[in-house]
Amino acid sequence: MILTICAGQPRQRLVHLPTPLEEAPTLSAELGIDLLIKREDLAGLCVGGNKSRLMEFALGALRARGVDTLVAHAADQSNKLRDIAAAAARSGMRAVLLVPGTTPRDGTPLQGNRLLFDLLGAEVRVVGTGLDDAAVLAAEEAVRDELERAGRRVAILDRRLEYGADATIAYVDAAEELHGQLLARGRGAASAVFIAAGAGMTASGLALGLKHLGAPARVHGVCIARPATAMAGEVVAHAARAAARLGIETRLAPGDVALEDDVLAPGYGIVTPELRDVVRRVARAQGLILDPVYNAKVALCLLRRVATGAIARGATVVLVNTGGAPAIYAHAAELAEAPA
Ligand SMILES: *Cc1c(COP(=O)(O)O)cnc(C)c1O
Repeated sequence: MILTICAGQPRQRLVHLPTPLEEAPTLSAELGIDLLIKREDLAGLCVGGNKSRLMEFALGALRARGVDTLVAHAADQSNKLRDIAAAAARSGMRAVLLVPGTTPRDGTPLQGNRLLFDLLGAEVRVVGTGLDDAAVLAAEEAVRDELERAGRRVAILDRRLEYGADATIAYVDAAEELHGQLLARGRGAASAVFIAAGAGMTASGLALGLKHLGAPARVHGVCIARPATAMAGEVVAHAARAAARLGIETRLAPGDVALEDDVLAPGYGIVTPELRDVVRRVARAQGLILDPVYNAKVALCLLRRVATGAIARGATVVLVNTGGAPAIYAHAAELAEAPA
């Protein structure tokens, strides 16, 4: 499959593409739709996921600049930080990861992605909790300055910087890949694509790519961190920034992405019994483990839209599984069946 939209972008090959577009016969029969799962979780690098495809674009430009150290801030179970650590390890770079909160209590083993940061050889530094955007950037810049004084060539990977455009461009690439897979399948276009929207770069890139290709599928960005009203303008802005870098005329308009936020409550990273049941249902129907923070919410949203008829019977629907499964180990207590 020859992809062209992002062909001019600097890129460091790290992952296995195309990722599979998998049939889901049991769930399709139960729901009365033609459900396909885009297995971004199988992209490789470390444990797959949308951030591994993104790191190909991020590293492409950074290596050309001679960068040897990556600095980033995110939650201590962050998939982004894990894939930065993995990409750094693969490329002979150093990763310095800033995480909020306190160091784990004595005797508590590291778990989930936080364990992987350690296994991958990243340096983890604990910073304050509840930092706003400006304080996060200031913390990243302070670490960058310190490391540069020690002779390192440092890049900060922050969504407000070039990394944000890389994240969007990576999903323009994924959109073109998905479009080709749907055409090759020869069973008609998809009418809807469901994908998680955290900061919204990934959903924005997917929608931009599909729109640019003239694909009819409506992208449903399932909000997992912030309400739709807070994200609508950002999704359009992410796309505009990526389109400018790609040199394409296509832009997203408000409303091009259906931002769904009814699964947002009770908040980011809180695993409710309803989400637990979705994880268990998909696992038993498909042998696939959805992460409880992002993709279980995406699946829950899809189930609700099928139940109300907003997604019509017989529709071809793609669920993009963006990875994140290591989070199950950090949420084992909420995911296990309640004792009788
Ligand atoms: C980061 C992430 C997303 C969301 O990406 P955004 O571009 O921030 O919206 C979705 N799924 C998983 C598993 C992620 O780690």
